[in-house]
Amino acid sequence: MKQASILISRKKLLNNYNFFKSKLAKDTKIITLVKANGYGMGDIQISSIIQDIGGDYLGVASTYEGIRLATNSIKIPIMVLNPLVETIEDIVKHNLEPTIINIQFIIALNKYLKENQIYNYPVHINIDTGMQRAGVTLEDISIFLELIRNNRHIIIKSVFTHLAAADEPIHDQFTNEQINLFFTIATSIEQECGYKIFKHALNSWGIQRFSTNNFDMARLGIGLYGTGYENNQDSLFPVADFVAPIIHIKEAKGGTVGYGRHGKISENGDTIATICAGYADGIDRRLGNGAIRFSLNGKMVPTIGNICMDTTMLNISGVDAKIGDLVTIFGSAPHPNYIASILGTISYEVLTSVSSRVARIITE
Ligand SMILES: *Cc1c(COP(=O)(O)O)cnc(C)c1O
Repeated sequence: MKQASILISRKKLLNNYNFFKSKLAKDTKIITLVKANGYGMGDIQISSIIQDIGGDYLGVASTYEGIRLATNSIKIPIMVLNPLVETIEDIVKHNLEPTIINIQFIIALNKYLKENQIYNYPVHINIDTGMQRAGVTLEDISIFLELIRNNRHIIIKSVFTHLAAADEPIHDQFTNEQINLFFTIATSIEQECGYKIFKHALNSWGIQRFSTNNFDMARLGIGLYGTGYENNQDSLFPVADFVAPIIHIKEAKGGTVGYGRHGKISENGDTIATICAGYADGIDRRLGNGAIRFSLNGKMVPTIGNICMDTTMLNISGVDAKIGDLVTIFGSAPHPNYIASILGTISYEVLTSVSSRVARIITE
């Protein structure tokens, strides 16, 4: 192996995808979220696998994430969740499908499409039913309906809302209210337009906990990547292993390891291995000084000393290893959920912290 890499397992990805598909009605379409470089696992790689298996739709956050896919052989429709008005020309140029998140955006889009005599441009509508992040607000619904009345420039492919707490039973009443409110508004938009519009509200947790509701599409994110679910470790697997080869091994007789001399060598000496990945690759610096054990040749080995920018030192005493052997930073072991718990964060942040200089490689 030439460098630190994310090794994507096609098999695990398909397993996870099918797990969520089985929870939905047969004809419910899946929008696969590949924002933030495919949750850090590789946007083009994940998208191409989804495209190969006949996936319906991809979702990204920004226009430029969408352009990256559109210019790298991705042909299935790409929804842009948070487009800026300034990017409308680029959106249209690359056939991306923008989400209308407020009145300002639809006005700007209408103006552009009108000036360029473009008709039936596909768009999606985000309705804010309680998340209060982005989305057309309830106060603006009547102005919005006015703007889409007899509007020949756009065609509304879908209307959606985002659930604020689909994973927390304590908020289930709120979630059900979001869903009901959403259906009322989506239906009035559909009546205004006079044609069928797809409706969707469920993210990964929503699919698990609210899939009895009748939706046309679902937006699958973290679940596809196989993390974030404490309950399903038998059926969902982290889709990738974050690995780095050992570049150097030293039998240390004493002294300390690394910056600030924080790693102490034990009295009898220790075997120290250095891997070519550090905090600049996405190994959180708070995992240094033994806070985590990574896996090496079937054994778990602790970090020693402070994590450096480009390297991490491990105490591999007693483990049979040589230069070039791969250390797994996260994946099957340690699980990204476990790293998240140590860092006091969520697995989303662990995955998306893997930096762009790490290679993303598809494996079987
Ligand atoms: C990121 C995102 C999702 C996916 O959420 P997960 O919790 O990762 O399943 C769905 N919808 C919207 C609007 C999002 O921003």
